[in-house]
Amino acid sequence: MALHVVVIGAGIVGAATAVELLRDGHAVTILEPDDPGGEQAASYGNGTLLNPSSVIPMSAPGLWKKVPGYLADPLGPLAIRFRYLPRMLPWLMRFIRAGSTVAKIEATAKALAPLLADAPGLHRALAEEAGVGALIERNGVLFVFPSRADFEAEATSWRIRKDSGTRWIELNEDELRQREPGLHRRYKFALLVGDNGQCLDPGALVAALVRLAVAQGATLRRGRAVGFRTEGGLLRAVYTNAGEILADRAVIAAGAWSKTLAAAVGDRVPLETERGYHALIENPESGPRTPMMPSDGKMAHAMTPQGLRIAGQVELAGLAAAPNWKRAEILRDFALAAWPGLPRNLPAERIKLWMGHRPSTPDGLPCIGPASGCADVLHAFGHGHVGLTAGPMTAKLIADLIGGRVPRIDPAPYSARRFK
Ligand SMILES: Cc1cc2nc3c(=O)[nH]c(=O)nc-3n(C[C@H](O)[C@H](O)[C@H](O)COP(=O)(O)OP(=O)(O)OC[C@H]3O[C@@H](n4cnc5c(N)ncnc54)[C@H](O)[C@@H]3O)c2cc1C
Repeated sequence: MALHVVVIGAGIVGAATAVELLRDGHAVTILEPDDPGGEQAASYGNGTLLNPSSVIPMSAPGLWKKVPGYLADPLGPLAIRFRYLPRMLPWLMRFIRAGSTVAKIEATAKALAPLLADAPGLHRALAEEAGVGALIERNGVLFVFPSRADFEAEATSWRIRKDSGTRWIELNEDELRQREPGLHRRYKFALLVGDNGQCLDPGALVAALVRLAVAQGATLRRGRAVGFRTEGGLLRAVYTNAGEILADRAVIAAGAWSKTLAAAVGDRVPLETERGYHALIENPESGPRTPMMPSDGKMAHAMTPQGLRIAGQVELAGLAAAPNWKRAEILRDFALAAWPGLPRNLPAERIKLWMGHRPSTPDGLPCIGPASGCADVLHAFGHGHVGLTAGPMTAKLIADLIGGRVPRIDPAPYSARRFK
């Protein structure tokens, strides 16, 4: 049965969902206050990595011991703004609990794996449909370490990755040197995860997917969803800041801004923004041939059409606080140290800084599936650190659910009811 579906938000999740719904013959309205693919969205400025291997949540055993340090060091890789702590506490407690044992991390990895599986392949197929297939590369991602011992120190998380299907080859110092001649010599060991990939320009991909959707009949409306009109448990319309849009179904894909919309249909999801940053160095003299994650930096280093992008950092400070650009400068400085071929005195006009909002639940799993208070409204948000990777599979899952088909992967772990 063809339905009118309003997709709320045009990040990677909303854009891919619109394309999948059109494939099923539905009428689609995409509601987005800004330019699809624009800088407001996490989908614009992320690390560009399409990593099926990213099944390990951020929370780890013993994390609670580090919280005082996170509060004390505003420039550490994970920082909590002191003023935001009272509002943040419930989320933080759940976050700490979610990673408190290895068994919990294994369960999260098992739940995430199907959502991330074959992400580079799914991205490639979608991008080709949108005429931008060249944006997706499937040449693997490198994880580089100062030594083999540093890799072994992370043995548990790599064992869990392996159990959920990740395969890799090890590179010794010589092999790493040949593959990445520009990388600082302090890195002496690497893993090449061949099934990982990269989207060279995620903002351009999102924009192309929305163009494709519009070319196939979708309506793109500028506006912000503010709630829902329901009657007898059925959806009638999506309220926006400029009137209502009649709808049979709605998909909440507004990223970090989804919390109040989910609450309006009965789900009080503890959604927070894990703010992240990137530094972009234009026309870089040096950089990775293969996108990579240095183990001592926990940030992505990737070449993009705009330059060398270094993306990472986690800052818990809410949606409204001004960016702390010093955090992006840390990323820039890390790049200068990792790539000795970059000039020490980079002119400021060659560096662009960006801040974005990861839509994060405390347990590292998204919310996908019907809302508790109205099954015609479906959640598709909360993908945290892996939303670019998980976008296409999320979209297919939503299309299965709206189409009344047997879902291709089990949606149970992503139910918003787990927070009740
Ligand atoms: C620094 C950083 C690095 C990252 N690196 C990676 C990576 O390498 N790989 C990976 O897989 N993921 C990565 N991520 C995570 C990934 O970017 C996100 O999980 C993903 O982009 C979320 O996509 P989304 O569509 O849910 O949300 P968004 O991309 O944020 O899009 C949400 C859209 O909804 C719109 N919106 C907001 N409110 C409303 C409303 N009321 N009505 C209508 N529309 C609304 C917004 O304008 C926005 O366009 C990274 C994130 C950051 C910040």
